[in-house]
Amino acid sequence: MDPDGPRADFIDEQEIEATLARSARPEAGRVRELLAKAREMRGLSMDEIACLSFVESPQLLAEICAAAKAIKEEIYGSRLVLFAPLYISNQCSNECTYCAFRASNAALTRRTLTQAEIAEETRILIRQGHKRLLVVAGETLPQQGFQYILDTIKTIYAAKVGPGEIRRVNVNLAPQTTERFRQLKDAGIGTFQLFQETFHRGTYAAVHLRGRKRDYDWRATALDRAMEAGIDDVGIGVLFGLYDWRFEILAMMQQIRHLEQRFGVGPHTISFPRLEPAVGSEIASRPPHAVSDMDFLKLIAIMRLAVPYTGMIMSTRETAEVRRATFAVGISQISAGSRTDPGGYKDGEGDPYGSQFQLGDHRSVDEVVRDVIGLGYTPSFCTACYRTGRTGQDFMDLAKPGEIKYHCHPNALSTFLEYLCDYARPGTRAAGEKLISIELAHMDQQQIAIALPMLDEVSSGKRDVFI
Ligand code: SAM
Ligand code: SF4
Repeated sequence: MDPDGPRADFIDEQEIEATLARSARPEAGRVRELLAKAREMRGLSMDEIACLSFVESPQLLAEICAAAKAIKEEIYGSRLVLFAPLYISNQCSNECTYCAFRASNAALTRRTLTQAEIAEETRILIRQGHKRLLVVAGETLPQQGFQYILDTIKTIYAAKVGPGEIRRVNVNLAPQTTERFRQLKDAGIGTFQLFQETFHRGTYAAVHLRGRKRDYDWRATALDRAMEAGIDDVGIGVLFGLYDWRFEILAMMQQIRHLEQRFGVGPHTISFPRLEPAVGSEIASRPPHAVSDMDFLKLIAIMRLAVPYTGMIMSTRETAEVRRATFAVGISQISAGSRTDPGGYKDGEGDPYGSQFQLGDHRSVDEVVRDVIGLGYTPSFCTACYRTGRTGQDFMDLAKPGEIKYHCHPNALSTFLEYLCDYARPGTRAAGEKLISIELAHMDQQQIAIALPMLDEVSSGKRDVFI
C-alpha cells in the first residue's frame, strides 16, 4: 500500500460485521414488510439487505424473487441489452491467484493483439450483430503504453461492415490516474468497469500476491478518479467465491452510497462474476467461499430490490440455465457469444490456454437471441443513452419516473428489428418479428406513436434509428 495514496475509508468492515451480527433469520412478517417497501422502489438499507440475505424458507425466497421480478419489469420492461467482451491482451504483471492471466502462469500462451487484429475481431463481432463491446485486458501495456488503449478504442469505432458498426465501447481495465481517465473519456468510452474482486482486506491481500493490484485502496478509489475525470457511467462488481457473499454485497452498498454522496449518482452497472475454473489456478476450481446457485439468485434478487435503477450484468461465465434464472430476478444486460482469449473470435473455438477462465455458456449470439425471445424478453442493441448524453444523473432522472418506457423500449425494438433484418437466421427472424408485434400490442398510445414510425424507418432500410 502507498502510505501517501488515497484511502478507501468508505469501506467500513466493522459496520458490515456489526450489521451481519445483529441480523438473524427473519420472521415472515418482517420479510413481507421489507418487500412491500422495496416494491415502492426506494431501495433498501444495509440492515434490511442483511435481513433478507438470511431468508431460507422456500416460500419467502420465492416472494423475494417475485418482488425483484416485478421491479425489474416495472423499470426495464421486457428489455435485455446484449454486448460482447473483446479481449485485446492477456499479458499481465499482477499475480491474482484466481486468474489464468497472472504473471507466473507458464501454461498460458501470451498474446497482445495489433490494431489490425483488433479491427478484424471487431468486424467479426459486427457481423454477429453486436453494437456494444467491452474491451478487456491484462495489466501490462505493450510498447506504445497507454496510447495502445486509446488507439484500440479508435480502431473499434472506425471498423465498419456494411451498415454495421460498434456504437458504444465500454472498458474493463486496470485502475487509472485521473489524467488517464480524462483521456479515456475524450476517446469516447461509455462505461468504465472495475471489479474490486473482494472488499475484505485480509482476503484481498491473500489473493493478490504481486504487482500494482496488491494496493487495495488504489483500486477501491479508482471509480472516484473516473468520476472526477468526468466519466459519468462507472460499473462495479466483486468476484463471488473469494469471500462471504453477504459481506461483499454490503460492501458494494457502501461503495454505492459513497459514490451517490460524493457525485450525486451511483454506479451505472453492477456485474456479478462468479469464480470459474482457470488454467493453472487452484483457487478458481475450488472457491474458498463458493456461492451456491440458490444463494447466487438470492443475492442478485436482493441487489435488484436494493438498487432498483442500476443496470445489472450477467456474463457467459454462467451456464445458459443459470443465466435464464437470473434474467427473471433482475439482470438487465448480458454478454453473448463471448471469447476470453485475445484473438478468440477469429480463431473460432476459443483457446483454453489463452483464455482467462472457463465459460459456462458457449452458444452463438443468434442462439442466445433466439432463446431470449422464447423467454419473452426483447433483445436490445441500443446505445442511445450514451450518445444522446443521457448518462450519470441524467440517466437516473430518466429511469426513475419509469420514463424509460418512452425512450428505451422504442429504441430496444428498433435496434432489435435492425438485428433481425441484418444478422438473424430465418427462424430467429420470424420469432423476433412475432415478439415485436406482441410488444406493440401491449404498448400505450404514446409509446406506439413513438415506436411505430421508428420501426417503419428500420424496415425501409434506415439504420441507427433512436430517440
Ligand atoms: N486486468 C484488469 C483487472 O484485473 O481489473 C481488467 C480485466 S480482468 C481480465 C476482468 C475480471 O475478470 C477481473 O476483474 C476478475 O473479476 C475476473 N476474473 C478473473 N479471473 C476469473 C475467474 N477465474 N473466474 C471468473 N472471473 C474471473
Ligand atoms: Fe491480471 Fe486482471 Fe487477471 Fe489479475 S485479474 S491477473 S490483474 S488480468
